[in-house]
Amino acid sequence: MAADLGKNIGAVRERIVMAALRVGRDPARIKLVAVSKTHPPELLRKAIARGMTVFGENKVQEAEAKIAEIGGGSAEWHLIGHLQKNKARRAVQLFDFIHSVDSPELAERLERLCAEEGRQHLPILVQVDLAGEATKSGIDEKDLPELVKVLQGCDHLQFTGLMLLPPFCENPEDARPFFRRLREIRDGLARKGCFRDGGELSMGMSHDFETAIEEGATIVRVGTAIFGERETFVPSAGTGAI
Ligand SMILES: *Cc1c(COP(=O)(O)O)cnc(C)c1O
Repeated sequence: MAADLGKNIGAVRERIVMAALRVGRDPARIKLVAVSKTHPPELLRKAIARGMTVFGENKVQEAEAKIAEIGGGSAEWHLIGHLQKNKARRAVQLFDFIHSVDSPELAERLERLCAEEGRQHLPILVQVDLAGEATKSGIDEKDLPELVKVLQGCDHLQFTGLMLLPPFCENPEDARPFFRRLREIRDGLARKGCFRDGGELSMGMSHDFETAIEEGATIVRVGTAIFGERETFVPSAGTGAI
């Protein structure tokens, strides 16, 4: 796998550039998050050596083990998975960026924890559930205004944009309406002055990131197309893993 890593990263970067140029966007405005969940720290180190600077993890404990081994300052760490209440403090200590804020309660808790932990700023995205998939995380569109209001009262949390994990679609074209809708919601919030820099859109994964970029993604989260099929990474004892 590691042998393909450089090639995979190059291919993904090239596809990002092509997709951006197709719709007249600046490729430099699109951030690539390498989704490293399930992969061991050695592979992340190799990715760093091949120029990757941003990693996405979906579990706090798994990320904790890797960050401890690799060093927090060696890369930018993004939490892209659902955040449980009891992991929020650890998340504030570990991550540079959180993609998955999805309730006023979680926002308030993170804000309080930032104050307690002396964390000046924590950039976050709000994960929106556009398909009404009750089993997934993400806030319903109708509940978004309440959460935005809470975020506007936060000193530490920086409301930076929106994140989407659409229902799995075999054909990326089927995900396009979801990407488009998220952009419309972002545009609406931007018009109200909610964001400092126009508002990020974290959307698009291995099989559909080009479609997401065509619809305005500014952050794509790509795992399999970079690292190959997922593995099983079991953090070593002592990290509190179960
Ligand atoms: C796993 C995951 C990804 C990456 O998925 P791939 O299909 O492997 O690119 C992106 N976003 C989230 C939230 C994920 O959990």
